[in-house]
Amino acid sequence: MSKGVHVNVNIQYKALPHAVVANVVQVFESTNWANFMIQYIVPHLKAYTPTSNAILNHLDAWKRENQSQDDPCGICMCGMENANECIVLPCQHAFHLSCIRQWLTRRNTCPYCRHEFQKELSGHYAITRIQTTLLLDENIPLEMPVGGQIMNAVVQMTLVQTYTNQMHLGYEILVNINKNLLASSITQQNPRKRSMSIVAAAETLKRLRTG
Ligand SMILES: [Zn+2]
Ligand SMILES: [Zn+2]
Repeated sequence: MSKGVHVNVNIQYKALPHAVVANVVQVFESTNWANFMIQYIVPHLKAYTPTSNAILNHLDAWKRENQSQDDPCGICMCGMENANECIVLPCQHAFHLSCIRQWLTRRNTCPYCRHEFQKELSGHYAITRIQTTLLLDENIPLEMPVGGQIMNAVVQMTLVQTYTNQMHLGYEILVNINKNLLASSITQQNPRKRSMSIVAAAETLKRLRTG
């Protein structure tokens, strides 16, 4: 797999009335579905990007030894008994090292005051691959009626950084059917795969800017 940004989104999809499993797979294979997911995910990507690794790798620099016990961690609200773990951000808000590290791997702002840190991802990105994995219990046939049922799926997107004037003419849509697999194990396993490639028409070209 080429270098890129990988985004996993767990989704719940309500099957249409009278649908069978195969119909849901058809939906996930469609260009409309890909476009829907792009519209759904892109605003989230813009809003939530991780803090730059350069900052994450040096959180220790903001360690404070003698933080007041009355000043609880702004994330878990527990006290700062273990002074080694206390991080005071440049905005003067204090957190446990593990609490703030976890937070900043998803966002680039202080949870308290929204003080902004440098983002890990910025610039122009193009979506090159959208893979939807339908999670099913074992032994469910494609003809099984699932009308109105909530189906669990995982959508995985691959984005690559682009430069202005560079056009990306298509993206690949992959659909997997995973039976009885946990979402977290999908990338390791190689499930039964239905796949197709779609060369997107000009109107489905999407670029996004996270910077
Ligand atoms: Zn905490
Ligand atoms: Zn703050």
